[in-house]
Amino acid sequence: VALPITGRLDANLGYQCNSDCLFCYFGRRKRRLQNPTTAEAKKALALVRGLGKSAVDMTGGEPTLRGDILELITYAKKELGFRNITIITNGSRFCDRDFAAEAIGRGVDDVLVSLHGHDAGLHDRLTGRGGSFDEAVRTIRNVAALGAECRTNTVINGLNFARAPEIAEAAHESGARKANFLLFCPLDDASAADAGVWARYSQAAPHIMRMIDGFGGKFGAVSVKAMPFCFLEGYEEYVTDFFQNTYDPYEWDYYLRVRLRRGRLTSDLAAYAGMALFMGPGRVRSVGWQGSLREGIMRLEAHRHFTKPEACRQCAFGPICPGVWKRYAELFGLSEIKPIRGEKVWEADMFMHRRFPGVTRA
Ligand code: SF4
Repeated sequence: VALPITGRLDANLGYQCNSDCLFCYFGRRKRRLQNPTTAEAKKALALVRGLGKSAVDMTGGEPTLRGDILELITYAKKELGFRNITIITNGSRFCDRDFAAEAIGRGVDDVLVSLHGHDAGLHDRLTGRGGSFDEAVRTIRNVAALGAECRTNTVINGLNFARAPEIAEAAHESGARKANFLLFCPLDDASAADAGVWARYSQAAPHIMRMIDGFGGKFGAVSVKAMPFCFLEGYEEYVTDFFQNTYDPYEWDYYLRVRLRRGRLTSDLAAYAGMALFMGPGRVRSVGWQGSLREGIMRLEAHRHFTKPEACRQCAFGPICPGVWKRYAELFGLSEIKPIRGEKVWEADMFMHRRFPGVTRA
């Protein structure tokens, strides 16, 4: 029995952005590429809806800088009928109360605000833009006061990991009710980031645990992303990594994401290859066909980008953990990794039921 597959997908409305975050996935792309036109942005939203998804994350770049963002919100809500619309933002427009009220009035249900520091000194340094902390905090206050859901997203990196509890405190005091802490990932343009941008998992883990001890019960949900289970023993229910994403209602359906961007042939071939190489018929039967398409493609991606030491074969969490990024292993080695003893855990969402008690099981 598994949690349902996430009903959420992203629609990227363009890479243009007014911040310059140290860990940005699109650092080069945002300087090179123009935003899609209104017609193209509407098509991107319609494609997500056409795949049967009822929740969409409007993302960028910074989507609220688009002159047509309010029109796109209305289109997504009224014409496409999305049940849940999230805007992922650095706060540079939602800090304006009138804009926030207009956007929420037109159909925004949820605002996911980037908050990378507990104060202006740290946050603005990481975003490369003075005033951005103030905007993020005003955004959280506005959204909370206007009655929409407000969540925060923090990229844990080499400069802020020790401040995780204070960042959670700033988010919670401002009015956020859910919080994500994502360990830096070397995706896209961030693949060349130097060692200083990475937080070492063994150094970050005690601060993440302190953060959960202080705020895990205050937020409606806390997610720790891209950190292996063995660094968070006793805190497993907070972990969302590669194989958990499929069942996290706030994450994107990666299989359909690949299908949208690269076509059905590519997504299916990748999923079949992952099933054949890493799953086997018994596992496919137990997860079901739709679950297997997702697990297959994630297992193939994990094989491409992640690595594990031999010792992970002994680990109880081995089947539901991708290991660490290959780049992380190149920079820091694998000696921090200590397997967890116990019976093997096969279900990726094993601990997530506790974090999402309201989500109905399939
Ligand atoms: S499989 Fe390896 S990396 Fe993953 S939790 Fe276990 S010991 Fe850690």
